Amino acid sequence: MPTYEFHCTACGKEFTTILSISARGEESIACPHCGSKRVEQQYTAVSVKTGKKTW
Ligand SMILES: [Zn+2]
Repeated sequence: MPTYEFHCTACGKEFTTILSISARGEESIACPHCGSKRVEQQYTAVSVKTGKKTW
């Protein structure tokens, strides 16, 4: 499962979302904290975490 990390520009919080490839459009992503859709995708090495699940 691909995991994507986002940063909300409205409330400043970060969150991780699992998305299918067909749902990758950023306009469909809403912040779970404040509900804003002003989110930016973080291009970090999230794929490393996904495989190990150490968190
Ligand atoms: Zn937010």
